[in-house]
Amino acid sequence: MGTKGRAIVGLDLEKIVDVLNRAYADEWLAHYQYWLGAKVVKGPMKDAVIAELLQHATDEMTHATMVADRIIQLGGTPVITPKKWFDYTNCGYDAPEDEYVRTILDQNVKGEQCAIDVYSKMLDLVNGKDYVTYNMALQILQDEVEHEEDLQALVEDLESFLASK
Ligand code: FE
Ligand code: FE
Ligand code: MG
Repeated sequence: MGTKGRAIVGLDLEKIVDVLNRAYADEWLAHYQYWLGAKVVKGPMKDAVIAELLQHATDEMTHATMVADRIIQLGGTPVITPKKWFDYTNCGYDAPEDEYVRTILDQNVKGEQCAIDVYSKMLDLVNGKDYVTYNMALQILQDEVEHEEDLQALVEDLESFLASK
């Protein structure tokens, strides 16, 4: 399936699939970190934070879908069991053990900064060699940059709110 689509890729397919599977594990863990963070978060501006976290949780699952589809197009298999996510992940998982808004926002900013690194490196790797993966990684990178911005804007709002009290 998709033989010509694969033949135009100028890189070792196994190498790209491996890089994609690492990002795939990141996306699921990011999805869960946001989704659970939205459930447990406490503190000032909680409602605005919950709305943003839930939006990002949805976006990360969309990213997981995009990455899985590309892995399959390249003849690979997305990481087959959640247990393995921890073997593949670049960015890891920060459990929301401290439920305070600021802590949760900081954890997710860190996650977004890691994701920005991951997709920048992926773009460098496939640049000029695999246009379809390049296009996917660019779309995701644009979202991750927006995510970081959204979260840092919330941190700023929270700081001014706390300073005004
Ligand atoms: Fe993502
Ligand atoms: Fe993100
Ligand atoms: Mg957002």
